[in-house]
Amino acid sequence: MKFLLSLLIFSISLTINAQDLKSPSEFLGYELGTQFTRHHRVVDYYEYLAKTESTRVQLENYGETNEGRPLFLAYISSSENIKNLDNIQQEHLKNTEGQGNPTTAIVWMSYNVHGNESVSTEASMKTVYELLTNKSEYLKNTVVIIDPCMNPDGRERYVNWYYQFKNSPNTVDPNSKEHHEPWLNGRANHYMFDLNRDWAWLTQAESQQRIKLYNKWLPHVHVDFHEQGVDNPYYFAPAAEPFHEVITDFQREFQTTVGKNHAKYFDANGWFYFTKEVFDLLYPSYGDTYPTYNGSIGMTYEQGGSGRAGLAVTTSLGDTLTLKDRVLHHHTTGLSTLEIASQNALQLNQEFKKFYQPKNYKYKSYVLNGNPDKLTALTKLLEQHEIEYGWATGKTAKGLNYSTGKNSPIKTSKNTLVIGTDQKKSTLVKVLFEPSTKLSDSLTYDITAWSLPYAYGLEAVASETKVNASLDANKTASPVPENSNINKETYAFIAEWNSFSDAQFLAELLNNNIKIRHAKKPFGLDGKQYERGSLIITKADNKSNPDFLSTLSAVATKHAKKLKATLTGFVDDGKDFGSDSVQPLKQVKVALLSGKPTSTLNFGEIWHFFEQQLQYPVTILDTDYFKNINLSEYDILILPDGNNYTKFFSTRRMDELKDWINDGGKLIALGGALKALSKEDKFKLKPKETDKDSIALVPIYDHNERDQIRNEITGAIFKTKVDHTHPLAYGYADSYFSLKLGGAAYNYLDKGTVVYLDSESTTPAAGFAGSEAQDKIGETLVFGVEEYGNGQLIYFVDNPLFRGFWENGKLFFANALFMVD
Ligand SMILES: [Zn+2]
Repeated sequence: MKFLLSLLIFSISLTINAQDLKSPSEFLGYELGTQFTRHHRVVDYYEYLAKTESTRVQLENYGETNEGRPLFLAYISSSENIKNLDNIQQEHLKNTEGQGNPTTAIVWMSYNVHGNESVSTEASMKTVYELLTNKSEYLKNTVVIIDPCMNPDGRERYVNWYYQFKNSPNTVDPNSKEHHEPWLNGRANHYMFDLNRDWAWLTQAESQQRIKLYNKWLPHVHVDFHEQGVDNPYYFAPAAEPFHEVITDFQREFQTTVGKNHAKYFDANGWFYFTKEVFDLLYPSYGDTYPTYNGSIGMTYEQGGSGRAGLAVTTSLGDTLTLKDRVLHHHTTGLSTLEIASQNALQLNQEFKKFYQPKNYKYKSYVLNGNPDKLTALTKLLEQHEIEYGWATGKTAKGLNYSTGKNSPIKTSKNTLVIGTDQKKSTLVKVLFEPSTKLSDSLTYDITAWSLPYAYGLEAVASETKVNASLDANKTASPVPENSNINKETYAFIAEWNSFSDAQFLAELLNNNIKIRHAKKPFGLDGKQYERGSLIITKADNKSNPDFLSTLSAVATKHAKKLKATLTGFVDDGKDFGSDSVQPLKQVKVALLSGKPTSTLNFGEIWHFFEQQLQYPVTILDTDYFKNINLSEYDILILPDGNNYTKFFSTRRMDELKDWINDGGKLIALGGALKALSKEDKFKLKPKETDKDSIALVPIYDHNERDQIRNEITGAIFKTKVDHTHPLAYGYADSYFSLKLGGAAYNYLDKGTVVYLDSESTTPAAGFAGSEAQDKIGETLVFGVEEYGNGQLIYFVDNPLFRGFWENGKLFFANALFMVD
């Protein structure tokens, strides 16, 4: 009786609490969906929930954005579950080891990864409130993890812009400025990276910080909330083909189970929706595929809206789409997902356990050799994904060779990296490492090849038998060397030039005003051979710098660089250090063009490359005021990919540019910028003539979101030839695997064709390329340098900095900055 009474009092107090709990509208002081909520107010509401409902809501901060905004998760469940959250988590993770007997469903819902798809964060608040009040029964057996805003910088950019240009009251006329975002729109993060392409590559601060918590939970269900074009009806699971072959029958079926439940609500309300179209499950770096390859039911939901929609907008059908509608739809699918997860909690747990049982994938081990810096860069990525790796214990490994596409053995040593598929993350390993991905449909939303041995420029085989390896957690491919030889007696120090890590080392030396030369010819010294590009740091060049030795020592240690000290500049063979063939490297002053017509994504990739990867200063020049700039202040101007550069280059501007190059300026051009330059008679770059119209490697859907990413879709890996005697290719071997994103084709240059496809190498090593596109790219330039007066034009037909993950392309870009002269 006493127990019953206290239970009664307890439940009354719960009811009162629930009634007292302020809805988002009550808390914010306006009806949800009538305004956009600033990020700090979103944080306030979640903090209010955590304080008021402390037994059922917990917040966890997981980091900060580039612009200093907080990133956090909210855990929502019953008081009982929140009290036992650690146990629930441990029991759940035991399932990945084939142990444990968990019964709780774990559902993770991610909102607003694209900043201008701004309804998501609003909807998250409504969904949490509903869960804590009318739908709390779901919480009995479900832990809900909500990321209210994955991309606060992008969202705030959009919301801030919108309020600057919103009509008062807002207008539904789609022509009004409030419906036309500027060049720098809110979709991407601070560095213009699309965070929904970054789950596997983890190049961005937001992704790097999030993945730590994601791996601590590995939810049963992950939903990524998006928006698409204003005129599109709602999209939800099941996804479109192609599905990656690793996706299990249960993962497919459950997508349909979820979709049918959503349909029930949408049908009852008379709302339009579509499924099984457009959004496929292949490219591994999305918020639906990445979770799927980690055992989750990963899904993308798309509301019609995005940055175009504002608070309300007239659609092409003449309907008015309001933010309130958009909130309601995302709210409905969110709750419906939780309903289904709660109803199927046991099955989700059982199937999740099955997903993590040993898989009998064809390839048992991936075996990689190569430059220690590249191996280290790869192992850092593996660690972030909690993928286990080891070091070979045998002498050879045989299997499919990535370079030749044939079965052939490679030699192994204790520095050979081995990644097995007999581990927890076997599915993710297969997806990221297999030589080529099986395509059930070549029409896909994104690139069709990404295999990491190609991206990192490593020699590799995929072995059908397990290759023995030792799991030495303390071993690294590039240990910090001693460099005890840095002392006053030395004439010069030599460092090799083989990897992007070497370029980071150089950049930091230059930033510290250390004077450096580089060898333009190979040379031998003290029985060791050095290749072109090797860095030579002499005492004589730095005699006026009192901190020379201590700075050099500190920077070498930081970058784990082994310096060879020599007491003489007299080489055994090749050119002595005083020769014309040993040239100083300049502390170049670099300008990067931004604004229309440059591509925000490619601009961002280059910006991020300088600041977060190379760590070398760059000045950003906007096209708006470019005409006022005295270009002679800069050694290098970079033109990112972009559409319609022709307008930017008026005759007068082209003449100014030619004068600047003629006087010694270095122009680096990527993608679409090449098109405009190829129209200038004086430049030698010319498009390859073809009798067919321009061909995209993969047909493009007539779809708004696809239109936005037209420059990034498609993508296949080609084996190109390299003239590594050219400064643009110092540090490379005679072939390079390039990720080709489109069918742009330029003829060889008379001189300066450095990386190229010949007529035989037009079949991709991995990924899809149509037969006509293959014809077109035969005998074309990939990267090249045109000498013009005292300066150069450096052409990047392919993008070596694509999404920041093509590790082996980055040294080309560094060579363009420092080595080409
Ligand atoms: Zn989106």
